[in-house]
Formats: sequence, C-alpha cells, structure tokens
Amino acid sequence: MINRLKKLNPQFRNILKISSRLAKKSDYNIYLVGGVVRDLLLNRPVFDLDIVVEGDAISLVRQLAKRLKIDFRRHHSFGTATLSYQGHKIDFATARKERYPHPGSLPKVKPSSLEKDLIRRDFSINAMAISINKKNYGQLIDFYHGRRDLKNGLIRILYSESFFDDSLRILRAVRFQQRFSFKIETKTYALMKQAIGAGALQWINPHRLRDELILFLDETNPYRYIKRFYLLEKFNFINKRIKLNKKEFNFFIRAQAAIRFYNKTFSNKDKIKRWSIFLAGILVNLSYREVIEVTNRFGFKKDERLIISSIKKDIGKIKKLDRKLKPSVIYKILTGYSREALIFFYAYFPRKKIRSNIIFFLKDLSGQKLKIKGKDLQKMGVESSSFMGKTLKKLFFLKLDKNLKTKRQEIKEVKKIVKIK
Ligand code: ATP
Repeated sequence: MINRLKKLNPQFRNILKISSRLAKKSDYNIYLVGGVVRDLLLNRPVFDLDIVVEGDAISLVRQLAKRLKIDFRRHHSFGTATLSYQGHKIDFATARKERYPHPGSLPKVKPSSLEKDLIRRDFSINAMAISINKKNYGQLIDFYHGRRDLKNGLIRILYSESFFDDSLRILRAVRFQQRFSFKIETKTYALMKQAIGAGALQWINPHRLRDELILFLDETNPYRYIKRFYLLEKFNFINKRIKLNKKEFNFFIRAQAAIRFYNKTFSNKDKIKRWSIFLAGILVNLSYREVIEVTNRFGFKKDERLIISSIKKDIGKIKKLDRKLKPSVIYKILTGYSREALIFFYAYFPRKKIRSNIIFFLKDLSGQKLKIKGKDLQKMGVESSSFMGKTLKKLFFLKLDKNLKTKRQEIKEVKKIVKIK
C-alpha cells in the first residue's frame, strides 16, 4: 500500500509522517481508516483524512497542531478532533468500541482497539485501515474482508443487527451501491429489507437523518439513487404520502442536466445546494403544510427551509412565464427566489418559453442595478422619501424594459417621471 500512500498530496503525506513520529514517541499505534482506504484502493481522489489512534488522539493532535502552527477543533462529546490544513480536513479519533443500548439510540462509546473500532463501522469496504506506524508503514489491515468485497463489488454489513443499531446505514448502503455501481450482498439485502419493514428509519434522530439525506441527494447525478431508494422504502421515513411517478423521475433527470448547465454557464456564482432541488422534487406532491412539517421536523436551516417551501408555494405562479413578456414582468415574477428554486423551475417546466425567460432573468436581469441614486433625485428637487422610492422603482423597471445602459439615459427618463425639464 506504500505506493498508494504516495498518491496522496504532499500536505497529507507530510501530516502522516509527522503523526507517525509523534505516535511512536508516545507509544501509540496510528492508522488511516475508513473511506480514505477504500478510495485509495479504488484509485479515487482523496479529499479528507480519517485517522484512528490506539492511544490519546487529542493529545496527539495537540502536539501535531503545535508543530504545524495551526488550530484544531475538539469535539468533546466524541473525544475526536479535526485539523484544517491547507483546505483539507483531517479527523483524528481514539480507537473506540460502541454499544447501542437500544436500536436507533446514540451508541455508548469506550476507548478500545483498532479491531473493535473497525467492526462498529457500516460496511466491510469502509472498515479497512492502513498502518502509518513506523514498524509497518503502509500495511493494509483488513480484518473483515473489505478488499475482497471491493474487488467483487459488494456492499456487506459486518454484523446482523447493524441496520437496526443504526438505520442510517440503509441510506448509506444505497448511496455507496449506486456510487460505485456495486451490489448489496444477499444477506445484507435481506437484513436491510427486514429493518425497513420494521420501520427502523423512523426511530432515528431526525437531525442525523437529515445530514445523511443531504449526503445522499448531494451525490453527483442522484436520479438513480432516488429511484433505487424509492423502490425500497418509498421515502416513507420522510412522509408516508410521498408518491413519485414517471413525471417526477423525469424531473430528476432534467434537474441533473439543469444543474450541469447552471454550473457551466454561471461558474463564478456561489456554490448551490444541489440536494435541495432534489428534495423539493421528492416533496412536490405533498401539500404545503406537509412540506413545512417535513422541513421543521428535520431541522433544516432557515435558508434551506425557504428554498424548499418557496418552490412548493409558487410552482403554479411560474406557468405565467410561458409567453413573451416584458423584462420588467419577468423580473417581478422571478425576483427574490434562490438560485436553487430557479434551477428547480427551469427543470420542472421543460416549456421553451418558460426556460428562456428564466435564463434571461439569470443572465441579464438579476444583477441589474440603477446607476442613479437617491442623492441625484434630491438634487433634482425630489424631497418626499416615499415619492423617491416609488420613482426609483418605476425607473428600475423602465431601465429593464428600455434597456437603459448609462446614467445619462436614466436621468433623461427620470426627468419624464418627475416631470422636470
Ligand atoms: P464519503 O466518500 O461519502 O465521504 P466516507 O466513507 O468517507 O464516504 P464518512 O461519512 O466520511 O464516509 O464516514 C467516514 C467513515 O466512518 C466511513 O468510511 C465508515 O467507516 C464510518 N461511518 C460513517 N458513518 C457510519 C455509520 N452510520 N455507521 C458506521 N460507520 C460509519
């Protein structure tokens, strides 16, 4: 595995080397674990590192952070710490074992060995480690046949109560199965169906579910993931009335294309929350009240709740865009929506006119501002602030409709409004 470790970027390799030396000094064992190992074996890019220490992880991170002159964040409740180093995240944890007092509860954790730490993980392919100890640097540690399953393209749990202990693993199983085009191993599949049948996804903390759902819907091109999961569980855990038909599945396909188009065309804009577009699609046939209940129960952030509820509330209004309209009218219909809502509408309505109006808004209208300011109006003798507000608004719509480019053109136009020669 040494050759695989060499594929990591120099910053990561540097961190591993220093950590290895510090661990030796303290007589700890230290390993790279989880998804990183899987991705190295699959020759996929690695963005973050997960490190497990048989010893005191926090004390090791403290020394490492001092050495690198960087800060770290300690998560008291889990005994873990995160370093942010040159744009990358490195998580450190003391090797621990877990016990679930009852299904769906948060586990009780105790410091333990690497072997016990690995068996508490979700799937064999995510339960491998690479030693970064001096004595066997780069050696693969694979107690649970993860490498064999990786070769055979199988998602396999490590013990039979796994899905009952933590039903988030149901979403994760489908996510990894779809991402790597793997199969869910037969026994794992049977146990997963059993847990779904027992309603295990309803027992779990909604905030944990939300985070996992976001990861699920944030995968590149999640249409296949959604379809697969719908066949299994129908998104009952979100709301039992969710119904997805051909129309919605076609929407998911168009949404993928719309997101690609948006990212290509507006690459300088802020990163969008892709997942929210798909979630809004999953919820689209529920009532407005039901949508609000879902977004509240899962504890989405305010802006996220707004994206999803505004889509549900105003979807009918967007049909008005299906004809030739003045720019100011298009502006009035579309202003105030998030980028995500606009992409949703674009994907939801494949009508040519609606789409071209949305693109026109995004490209040419949404960033428009008046060049003239309140001060300029004052100079022209406009004093009442409410009149000034109304005038500026009127002028702004004229600017859009008449395509006014310069301040001089705006002044000429405003003079007509306030009737000054
Ligand atoms: P990704 O490539 O999507 O980041 P990952 O495998 O790195 O996937 P994380 O969610 O970052 O996934 O988790 C890191 C590791 O922690 C996993 O590889 C797995 O070993 C373990 N893990 C995460 N979630 C669970 C869970 N619900 N149950 C058991 N183990 C988990």
